[in-house]
Parts: sequence; structure tokens; C-alpha cells
Amino acid sequence: MKTKIIATIGPASSSDSILSEMIKAGMNLCRLNFSHGTHEDHKKVIDSVNKVNLTLVTPIAMLADLQGPKIRLGDIEDDFVPLSAGDRIIFTTKVCVGNKERVFISYPSFAADVRAGENILVDDGKMAFKVIKTNQNDEVLLESVNGGRLFPRKGVNLPDTLISLPSLTTKDLHDLDFIMKNEVQWIALSFVRSAVDIHILRHHIAAHPSLVKPRIVAKIEKPQAVKDIAAIVEASDAIMIARGDLGVEMPMQMVPMIQKRIIRQCQQAGKPVIVATQMMEAMIDNIRPTRAEVSDVANSVLDGADALMLSGETSVGKYPVETIATMHRIISQIEDYEDIYYKQPGQLPAYSERFISDAVLYNAVEMAHSTKAGAIVVVTHSGYSAFRLASYRPKAEIFVFSNSPQVLKTLNLVWGIRGFFDATIDDAEHLMQRINNHLLQNNFVQSGQYIINVLSTPAWKKGASNTVRLGIAGEE
Ligand code: PGA
Ligand code: MN
Repeated sequence: MKTKIIATIGPASSSDSILSEMIKAGMNLCRLNFSHGTHEDHKKVIDSVNKVNLTLVTPIAMLADLQGPKIRLGDIEDDFVPLSAGDRIIFTTKVCVGNKERVFISYPSFAADVRAGENILVDDGKMAFKVIKTNQNDEVLLESVNGGRLFPRKGVNLPDTLISLPSLTTKDLHDLDFIMKNEVQWIALSFVRSAVDIHILRHHIAAHPSLVKPRIVAKIEKPQAVKDIAAIVEASDAIMIARGDLGVEMPMQMVPMIQKRIIRQCQQAGKPVIVATQMMEAMIDNIRPTRAEVSDVANSVLDGADALMLSGETSVGKYPVETIATMHRIISQIEDYEDIYYKQPGQLPAYSERFISDAVLYNAVEMAHSTKAGAIVVVTHSGYSAFRLASYRPKAEIFVFSNSPQVLKTLNLVWGIRGFFDATIDDAEHLMQRINNHLLQNNFVQSGQYIINVLSTPAWKKGASNTVRLGIAGEE
């Protein structure tokens, strides 16, 4: 299977036995959602995943998802405040227990940042308000658009407002310190607004004494981020199309085309891209997804996503293992339609500092395509060659050898990559022969198949890929 599966871990999935079953069913990465749970909860999951990885000899990676500047309402006196269309209510930044007059909002400069006429959405967009007026200090008067029930502690989206909250909150910095101490491969940042947010997170990661430096996933869920997408793709190591909040902050009918466009941009940049949220939502309670969900998973694979993400389905749902097994079956089915799924290799990327390796890797894929090679094999230190190779989406298997377990786990997010650990220091010729024999002996390639090796010569020097070799498995 080329497309990878990320599963959010929660109470429904944190035991060793369920985690093992999820891995066997096709999970590639575990997501820890720092909007929920304590550090103790997350630490248990990390320890379990590390343990299961050793037992099953798997490179399951960890993605830690920071809450970012998420805004919430406060507590409410009764179960909810009932509102009719046209009713007015105050959101205040002074802590209080809410009632039908006023409710607390966790955004200190709310009154200074909003303008009359802006839209305020609460509870996944179920409750919409218009700003009537602000006192510029601590209170904003709102009018309910459609009425409904206002429940406590629900999330708030402000699609029109230039939010002055920092991209990393005090909680995020505290979570980041915990994450850095625990050898996680990927850190996702929620509610990214511009590339600057990514630079700030990268600065904090670099400044931390921990030697393991996780890579950054930018979650695209705000209109500003969609607008600034080129710079954000450039600044990040991967992108998540976070359709849950994105579909609240922007007209939801725009999300499908935004998804297609961002996937294309990420492929061109050689950056992995994740499609997230509500993929198999019905499976939180049911053993089968809806047919619309099956189509959504299938179409996201066809769009060219590197990875698909599950949230509530695996963290709190009744059927975490079955959800992964079902997603796995849909992905395999689509990838089997070779004529529809695999396209001609795209275009050689524009000139950059990495032009030689970009061009060598591109031509390795072209050659794999024209010779119908079974495998492309690459040795990598940083992972760059693997990211780039995968971005051309070859039909041939991509086998990656690295001397870094951290890099191998990191690459488990990436489309089509199968990683192997190899720390031997050999000259290019011997290294290649040994790797190819290993693949043949373990049935990853069949005798007589064309096999393409991408090398950086001299081997294991931290050089770029500069050599392509075409051979026949078993005949070297
Ligand atoms: P969340 O992000 O689950 O952390 O909200 C994903 C999304 O918004 O789609
Ligand atoms: Mn979100």
C-alpha cells in the first residue's frame, strides 16, 4: 500500500493490544492530540508505541498535534443557553459562569480585535453570530443568526477577524517541551496563519537541548493560511488539510477544491500532505462507514494524498481496529486501478540548490516508468531523496535504506516509502549489491525484475543523490 494511515490515539486505542492490532491492520503513524489528555496519558501512549515497535519490528511514527491558538467558551450555568434567531448575548473576556446574558470567551484581546459585522461561529459552526458592537475592552455584543443551543466550553471560530493571539500559547510551549523530551518524529501546529508561525515553532525546536529534532506539519484550517499557502508549504516539512475547522472558517463547498490544489502544490514541492477529519466519521458508532465516506477516502487517495488521518474514529470510537482495516481495504482497492491511479511522472521541479538530486531522482522515476521496473532503491541520510522520489508517485516500489531509525520513522508518513535500517559503511558498489540481495532474498523484488538504484557517490557521505543505475534483480 502506498497511501499511509494516521490514527489519533485516545481512550479507545491506547492499550498495547489494541495498538498492536491497529498496526497489523495498516496504521503507519499515531497522532497524539494535545487538545485532550494529560502529559501522563500521552507518555503512556508513547511508551506503548515504542514497546510495540520493538516487538513487531515496525517503524510506527509519532505525530504530536499542538492545540495552537484555539478559542473556547467558558462554563455555562445550566446545560446550555437556548437562543432564538435575533437574540442578543455578550461574550466577555472576564471569567464568569455563563448565562443568557453573557458567556466567557478565552481570548483576552477579543473586544479589541473584532469589528462590527464580523461573523463568530461556535460549536463547529452550528451556532452563528454577528458582531453588533464592541466596547473595545472586555465585552462584545453579538446577535444570534439562526438560534439554537449554546453549550459550554465549545470551540469558537473567527473567520473574519485578524486574531492577535500568539501562534504558540503558554500551553503549547509547555507541551512542546514535553514532546521534545520524548523522541517524536512530527509536530503539527494548529491554526497556522502564515509562514512566520512555522518559523517561530522551528526556532523553538532548534533552541531546545534535545538532540532529536522533529519535523513540522502545518495544519491548514484558516482562510489566511489558504491564501499564504505557497510560503507555508515552503516553510514546513509537511501539510495537513484540516478539513474540520477549515470547513467552518471557509464556505465548506470550497474545501474539496482546496484539498486538490494543496495536494498538487505539496507534490510539486516534495512535501508530504495529509488529508484529515471526518473520513470515516460514521464508524465512531457503526461497524460500517457510509458510502459517501468510502468515496471520500477513495477520492482523497486519487487526489494523491500521502496520508489519510482518523480522529474520533480511533480515539474514542467503538471500532478503532475495524476502521483502520476498512480504510486499508479502500486504499488497496483504489491503488489496484493502476491505469487510473498512476500517472506519467510529473514535471521536473524548477531549478533550486538541490537541482542535481531533484533531476537524478526524477529521471530514476522516468526510467522506472519506461522500463516497468519493480523497485527504486535509495540510500538516504536526511530523508530528502525519499521525500523527493515519493513526490513523483512512481508505480515501482520505493525502498529506502537509512542508518537513522529516526529518519526511517519520519519517512513512514510519506507516500509509498518502505524503510530499512542499514548502518554498514561500504563503498557504493558493495552497499548496492548487499541491499539488492537483501530485497531479493526477502521477496521484496522478484528475480528478473528491473531494479533501479539511486546512489550518492561516494556512499554514506552526506552528499546528494547523483547516480542512477539500472540492473536486473538476481543478475548482478
Ligand atoms: P483538530 O484538527 O482535530 O485538531 O481540530 C483537524 C481539523 O480541524 O480538521
Ligand atoms: Mn482543527
